[in-house]
Amino acid sequence: MDEPRTDYLMLIGGEWTDGQEEPFSLVSPVDGQPWAVLPSASQADVAAAVAAARKAFDTGGWPRTPPARRARLLRRLGELISERADDLARLQVRENGKVLREVLAQTKGLTDYCNYFAGLAETAGGHTIPSSAPDMFVYTVREPVGVVAAVTPWNSPLALLMWKLCPALAMGNTMVVKPSEVTPASTLVLGEMIEAAGFPPGVVNIVTGDGRVGAWLTADDRIDKIAFTGSTHVGRQIAAAAAAHLTRISLELGGKSPNIVFADADLDRAVEGVVAGIFAAAGQTCLAGSRVLIAQEIYEDFAARLVQRAARIRLGHPLDPDTEMGPLSCRAQYDKVQHYVTVALDEGATLLTGGRHPSGAQFRDGLFMEPTVFGKVRNDMRIAQEEVFGPVVCLIPFTDEDEAIAIGNASIYGLAAGVWTRDIARAHRVCARLRAGTVWINTYRRTSYAVPFGGVRQSGLGRENGAAAVEEYTEVKSVWIDSGSGIADPFNPRA
Ligand code: NAD
Repeated sequence: MDEPRTDYLMLIGGEWTDGQEEPFSLVSPVDGQPWAVLPSASQADVAAAVAAARKAFDTGGWPRTPPARRARLLRRLGELISERADDLARLQVRENGKVLREVLAQTKGLTDYCNYFAGLAETAGGHTIPSSAPDMFVYTVREPVGVVAAVTPWNSPLALLMWKLCPALAMGNTMVVKPSEVTPASTLVLGEMIEAAGFPPGVVNIVTGDGRVGAWLTADDRIDKIAFTGSTHVGRQIAAAAAAHLTRISLELGGKSPNIVFADADLDRAVEGVVAGIFAAAGQTCLAGSRVLIAQEIYEDFAARLVQRAARIRLGHPLDPDTEMGPLSCRAQYDKVQHYVTVALDEGATLLTGGRHPSGAQFRDGLFMEPTVFGKVRNDMRIAQEEVFGPVVCLIPFTDEDEAIAIGNASIYGLAAGVWTRDIARAHRVCARLRAGTVWINTYRRTSYAVPFGGVRQSGLGRENGAAAVEEYTEVKSVWIDSGSGIADPFNPRA
């Protein structure tokens, strides 16, 4: 067995530095072996990173860097990512056990994010506003918010960071990044690329460690905006921390998304879509279609097909090209998902397949779990209401369109939803009534740099991706110019 790597360092003010707290280990979810030791930031390290980002913003000139130059640096970063996409993907697989082909597709796609936001750096601006007041010329400008704290989860560490970093840097903000303690190494390697692309020191700083590091960062009153992706539980804590200084926030949180299958759907496609929705990435995606609502008249048939397809999913090593589902990402997550199997059984849900650690020597030391389907679930059960974040799906029958919508909306979450039907009018009707940030019709799990993504209700605040992301990273300044030559009446501003 190789000795764990110890050469990962944090990036603060352009210097690669160790943390002042006790370092922590990264453990492979495939074989349980520690493979790297990472620095843990102290409160003073966090304060130094915020000070570096503040300096780069306040006096370092980054917000006044011409948009064309910011765009060039982002495009260069995109090229560097593209050249090392395979290394970055393999590193993420090592961290969180996600299947290589999915991670590679994601990593290769990051270059598109750089290019898209480079374009917005050069084109997103303010407006001139026709004014009714005589001689007034009024316009708005979009200015960077300031120093952004980006706190990210472990399931897609680089993609979810780039959703923040690209618009933030494009619009002239500086950043302090705190990746998940499960997946910090890939973010530090991205930091090397940010440096190599030519971003000035202090524009992007990276501190590593657990939730305490995130809490120190988000409580710092020198932060202008917090961009968080993670659980709804931590999202609430961050919102409370932000309230102390009225720091701007965007929150991308959890979900319990309904994937609704009507009797008139193309059922072959629907089975594949439902499987992709919940078992890709072993269900560890915020947008997982973890509640499958099935029209009563096709319930038995569809459930049988789904169970058959789920039982055929190939589990294996995430680097093996034949593997469809890898392990869960970390021990805490594995224990949580197993706990929910017990919860569902105690509540009276019917286990149709899965629920166990797979047998076989290759799975023995890893955090593997069989694809798991629970039948005849009631929507008020905990298994249908709480985010499991694993390969566990609930099947819930419904009698008609109204009931499907009512069940779909009966959740504290509102991240996404799927609708499977051949009836275009029904698709639009249902889509209009579902409370969700994204609705997929006859497809599932699609995202793009150009399409806004985010949740309603307790799935989050704000939107990432698309032109909407520019608003999250800019303040609008309104400018009034009096081009008249007369002297204004001080007590009659409309004159
Ligand atoms: P998590 O909330 O436990 O942790 C997320 C990050 O917050 C980590 O970096 C963690 O160290 C940090 N953190 C923990 N406590 C903190 C605190 N008090 N203050 C500041 N930072 C703190 O989430 P996770 O387990 O890493 O990721 C899984 C969760 O992320 C799921 O709930 C999932 O739905 C959600 N998620 C949402 C989206 C989305 O776009 N909506 C995408 C991916 C994941």
